Amino acid sequence: MSIKRRSIVKIDEDKCTGCGLCVSPCAEGAIEIRDGKARVIKDELCDGAGFCLGVCPEGALTIEEREAEEFSEEAVHRHVEGRIKNYIPQKCFRCGRGEDEQPVIPCRSAGESLWVCTRCLPALIHG
Ligand code: SF4
Repeated sequence: MSIKRRSIVKIDEDKCTGCGLCVSPCAEGAIEIRDGKARVIKDELCDGAGFCLGVCPEGALTIEEREAEEFSEEAVHRHVEGRIKNYIPQKCFRCGRGEDEQPVIPCRSAGESLWVCTRCLPALIHG
């Protein structure tokens, strides 16, 4: 294990409501809901890319620079394999297609954090 100064996700516990919207966007599985709050469960699982930031309706997620365990793809691989059985697939809020039928991406609309499939995305953009 090696520690270095790097970018990593920070969760403001006072703002976090534990809604869980930030869990799925994290491909590394670094965020879980524990005791009603989102947590980065191991620093080595968070690459600091920040894909989770946009889905938080409370603005509880930011990126900070601090001393942390280095990101480890090997640790992510082990972790993701273990949690695949608990994964909850996402559906498009417009058409209801699941991510097994069409890729879905997180978006913000009218103050809500939603998932939209790539078929419905053009209609959202162009009206
Ligand atoms: S999306 Fe925001 S409010 Fe919801 S669990 Fe994640 S950090 Fe907490």
